[in-house]
Amino acid sequence: MNTGTKLGFSNLRKSVSARVNEIAEIEMRQVGKIKHSMHDACLSALAMMYFQDASMLEFQRRLQEQTQMNNLQTLFQVETIPKDNQLRDIIDAIPSQKLLPIFNDFFRLLQRGNQLQPFQFLDEGYLLPIDGTQYFSSETINCPSCLTKGYKNGTINYSHKVLGASIVHPEKKQVVPLAPEPIKNSDGSKKQDCEINAGKRFLNRIRQEHPKLEIVITADDLYSRQPFIEALNQNKMSYILIAKPSSHKVLFDQLIEKEDLDQAHLLEWQDNEGAIHRYEWINDIRLNGNKSAPLVNFFEYSIIRDGDKITYKNSWVTDIRVTGNNVKKLVKAGRAKWKIENENFNTLKNLGYHAEHNYGHGKKNLSFNFFLFTLLAFFMHQIIELKDPLYQIARAKFSAKKEFWNQLRCTIRVIIFENWESLLGFVISPPTDIRAP
Ligand SMILES: [Zn+2]
Repeated sequence: MNTGTKLGFSNLRKSVSARVNEIAEIEMRQVGKIKHSMHDACLSALAMMYFQDASMLEFQRRLQEQTQMNNLQTLFQVETIPKDNQLRDIIDAIPSQKLLPIFNDFFRLLQRGNQLQPFQFLDEGYLLPIDGTQYFSSETINCPSCLTKGYKNGTINYSHKVLGASIVHPEKKQVVPLAPEPIKNSDGSKKQDCEINAGKRFLNRIRQEHPKLEIVITADDLYSRQPFIEALNQNKMSYILIAKPSSHKVLFDQLIEKEDLDQAHLLEWQDNEGAIHRYEWINDIRLNGNKSAPLVNFFEYSIIRDGDKITYKNSWVTDIRVTGNNVKKLVKAGRAKWKIENENFNTLKNLGYHAEHNYGHGKKNLSFNFFLFTLLAFFMHQIIELKDPLYQIARAKFSAKKEFWNQLRCTIRVIIFENWESLLGFVISPPTDIRAP
């Protein structure tokens, strides 16, 4: 039914297979049988993340023994289910940056299928919130890329962090993830990597990969400092960054002066429940006290209840000129996040973690590569939610998304399906004449 569409499951899976085979051929200089085992390892990892099932391989091995068939083969074209240590060794050795182009492949498919344009919220460009996430932490398990933090009592904490970014629209549930940037230590470096440095690398890479894409970066207070704003300007990206009074003293002092001169603008409205929404803004003020301080535009938003109780207050700096016409929209844009509002992501993050429990942390790239497969599976879910009509029908049969995926997981443990569509078809209308023998 939907097998032929560019944004269907099969085509996404094919595009991953093509990249993985390319990596095996060019990067790893492997041929024949070894190439297959690399494909099988990567697609098995993707399948585990896609179905959010860390024991998927075990169940499919059982099906294979019983019936000489299994769903990893039919749905993901895995020829031979890899052994656990084989899967770990192969994925550990893949240089992570070689997997990043898969994100662009999905992105281009969305672009060509006219599915990106509906995500545009501001005229200035696509909203792209960026944010650091820790996805691994331990006091014993570690690898050379681990970030380290020593404590007075002698213990060391090892962790992996990543700078994540997804295109969002404040009124859409789905998001479009871009390839994330690892926050990690590189070989021989004594200095710990940090979120801001990863942020700057991310901006450069995204600009290289998407030279013409109009982007509005949103981020928290950590990023609203001169070096990062200069990196944004260099990469011709717009921004809406939280700016707190505690970290922007000079900026907030100017506000008071300007307010005295009556240069501040104010807009207020009252909602049905009586809460007052107050917007205040000033254009062209200095970010800080430096001689070379960039000029920024500033806006603030507060919600006031019961006459004088401020129940919400936040403030931002932006390069976009703030007016009475766009200030409400800018506040919405500044508040839109991708991580917190997305119920799925935490499950997926945990799944990456569970996979790591089964397969280990690795010596090179295993931990981050598992994270990448997790995010790719999440990306596939986003596209399928947007574009797969059969998915939408099947999903509507269940009130909770968790229950829907639970059903898929259980079903593929016992029945073999030719393809994704026949699995969904089964879930939509299960045969009524099944009886245990
Ligand atoms: Zn590590």
